[in-house]
Amino acid sequence: MPRQRRLLILDDDLAIAQTIAIAAEDHGFDVSIATSPAEMCRNVKRWEPSHLAIDLIMPDMDGVEVLRTLAGIGCDASIILMSGMGVKVLEAAQRSATERGLHIAGLLPKPFNLAALRTLLDVSGKESEPLLVAQSPTIRSAFSTEELLNGIHSGQFFLHYQPKIRIADAEVIGVEALARWHHPTDGLIYPMHFIPRAEEAGILHVLTYKLFDEGLEWLNRTATLSTISLAMNISSTSFTEQDLVDRLYWSCLKFQIDPRRIILELTETSAMNESAVAYDILTRLRIKGFSLSIDDFGTGYSSLTQLARLPFSEIKVDRTFVISMLKSAEAMTIVESTIQLGKRLGLTTVAEGVEGADEMQMLRNLHCDEAQGYYIARPADGEAARALIQNWESQRFV
Ligand code: C2E
Ligand code: CA
Ligand code: CA
Repeated sequence: MPRQRRLLILDDDLAIAQTIAIAAEDHGFDVSIATSPAEMCRNVKRWEPSHLAIDLIMPDMDGVEVLRTLAGIGCDASIILMSGMGVKVLEAAQRSATERGLHIAGLLPKPFNLAALRTLLDVSGKESEPLLVAQSPTIRSAFSTEELLNGIHSGQFFLHYQPKIRIADAEVIGVEALARWHHPTDGLIYPMHFIPRAEEAGILHVLTYKLFDEGLEWLNRTATLSTISLAMNISSTSFTEQDLVDRLYWSCLKFQIDPRRIILELTETSAMNESAVAYDILTRLRIKGFSLSIDDFGTGYSSLTQLARLPFSEIKVDRTFVISMLKSAEAMTIVESTIQLGKRLGLTTVAEGVEGADEMQMLRNLHCDEAQGYYIARPADGEAARALIQNWESQRFV
């Protein structure tokens, strides 16, 4: 007899859990909701669900621990992983869950739309179906190349800025610029929903250069910001663009910004791309004076040799580890050893995703150089970020 379709949902947000429940019931599932991992584990044993939907990021619990516990009790359900932290986080969690013998049926980035969830429930209902990465259509398919280009040329894309502070004295030493899209009908859209699409369409460089100019102009416009640095995210695909170096350098000349104030953040995976082109471009950027930061460190698989060889000046501990460092011994080990590694290699160490005073204190104890996160300030538009920095009271954080 085929196993009954039973879905157990673990999400601290009851409204989201109920939305999922309704969609699943429509698809012939019996549904139960758990709001804590302990409750979920009890139900897994008692109720034997065929499917689990788990929110990876919840206050006071660590999705990775939850997965480990499930593996420990021999859970054989098909698992849907959900997170508002982007596909990369989901993929990392998926890897660790699969290594522990769990069956991951799909990944669901939040905010998700119901169509994506339904597709996933349909597919994952068939036991042996291959893994599906379900994304809301707005992430990969809904935006046409034309729509993106129109958006870029009509100024719908802009930057939010998030301060970074030096932990020793809590002074703002820089900002990270984060792309946003003010879509005429869909409202504010976050980068995880359009960067991969622009990349796929081969037009990300158009957006990158446009945003780069916007960031430099913002920096140039206020004399009081003359000491802070500006970090921009650059995708791996850009490292095949031969004119990247000249184009970025030329922008700095245009806005009279010393490239030494600009930090280019590359994700660990893109930076570790072995290709000679990437290495060549990284070296040329350094020679022009740009700083290079290795972003999301800990989520990829880089070797120490590669890391030591590449011309980086900064290392950023991935926010997933920082967020869970006080709850997970594993995360703490990664944060601590990344900071040590960075120091030994003479790199500036930055922790991102600092959400609380306790994490901040722990990072201070670990001698991490810089911090960024909601605890310090959320990303804000150019005006608000400028005002925030100008009226900064570092005492609050020391
Ligand atoms: P990232 O480079 O790791 O950027 C940090 C992300 O963490 C941002 O998400 C930021 O809003 C979020 N964040 C900051 N502090 C906290 C915190 O305390 N807690 C939590 N949970 N999150 C925090 P955002 O803006 O959605 O950006 C997502 C990713 O999109 C970025 O991750 C970056 O990889 C990419 N991205 C953003 N702007 C650009 C861009 O202009 N070009 C490219 N190629 N990628 C970009
Ligand atoms: Ca970044
Ligand atoms: Ca990052």
